Amino acid sequence: MSKLIRVAIDGPSGAGKSTIAKAVGKQLNLDYIDTGAMYRAVAYKMIANNVSIFEMEKLEKLLAGTEIDFSNGNIILDDEIINEKIRTPEISKMASDCSALPQVREKLVALQRKMGETKNVIMDGRDIGTNVLVDAEFKLFMTASPEERAKRRYIELNEKGEKVSFAQVLKDIKERDHNDSTRALNPLKKAEDALELDTTGMSIEEVINCVLKEIK
Ligand code: C5P
Repeated sequence: MSKLIRVAIDGPSGAGKSTIAKAVGKQLNLDYIDTGAMYRAVAYKMIANNVSIFEMEKLEKLLAGTEIDFSNGNIILDDEIINEKIRTPEISKMASDCSALPQVREKLVALQRKMGETKNVIMDGRDIGTNVLVDAEFKLFMTASPEERAKRRYIELNEKGEKVSFAQVLKDIKERDHNDSTRALNPLKKAEDALELDTTGMSIEEVINCVLKEIK
């Protein structure tokens, strides 16, 4: 079998990782794995089953019976397509909270590594370059200022008809940044061998071209 190509993209919420990973993956024929969506899927299932982050026994049982997969651009949780259902502020918060739990990380990281063992992938998240795919062929750490990221998220939520204020979106982003970068287990951090790209003020096209040039 020829050598696998694995691209790892990390960075804070709203840095544009998924937009870039999807576009670059398409150009280079790599399967896109959105690991944030996997934490969101667990959060969705916890809320649906009334399980809090303090109920370890219930949570472990729930995780044991959980299957998550990607197919044709869809995220599938136990045979249910959950694409849009996991993009709400409530799920964002719960995903950030449950991602600090060792039980949740252990299960999802094992799944992610398995996905990276069998196919060419471009995977985005918080700990891909530092933990999930430490020997990835290419690592990118994408950032942008909190204000720029909040602006992008605010426009996106508005387009979907969600009633939120800019101040609230900015507050949520800063809170998630804090949660993600200060948790004990696999916090958000640039891998030493990752290329850092601050996308503040850059267009999507500019970022895609820059990343493609670096990978090639
Ligand atoms: O990227 P997204 O905003 O969809 O991720 C949702 C949450 O999942 C993040 O706030 C983060 O706490 C968590 N996450 C993580 N590790 C990853 C991907 C996401 O802890 N590899």
